[in-house]
Amino acid sequence: MKISLERVHFMPKLLQPGILYVSEEFETAAHLCPCGCGEKIRTPLGPTEWKFTQGRNGPSLSPSVGNWHLPCRTHYWIRDGRVVWAKHWTEEQVRAGRLREAQRRAEYFYSLNRSGPRGMVARVIEWVRRMIALK
Ligand SMILES: [Zn+2]
Repeated sequence: MKISLERVHFMPKLLQPGILYVSEEFETAAHLCPCGCGEKIRTPLGPTEWKFTQGRNGPSLSPSVGNWHLPCRTHYWIRDGRVVWAKHWTEEQVRAGRLREAQRRAEYFYSLNRSGPRGMVARVIEWVRRMIALK
């Protein structure tokens, strides 16, 4: 499936299939699930979130998008303007993935904290606890 880029200021209410909407101003991107279920997929952009790049053949998002919360449970990459399907993850893999994500964020915020405001580490630890508690 082909994915083209549309830069927007605000996310439109109705999304069209096959388009990755990116608002760099609000650090967010959105698209419709490529399986055709019609669900709106939001991917925040940022150092601990998704990274968006625009190549010659179209947009890419990394890491992969895993829609574990949806009935279709799709998992895919958007790479060079195409949907590349990935393997379905088991519950255990989803939990391991969430944990890795939480660790990555904690490390990032810890590195900020060295020069940043106090109290950040306590907030991050609290956030990681909540992530781990999620089932
Ligand atoms: Zn879907």
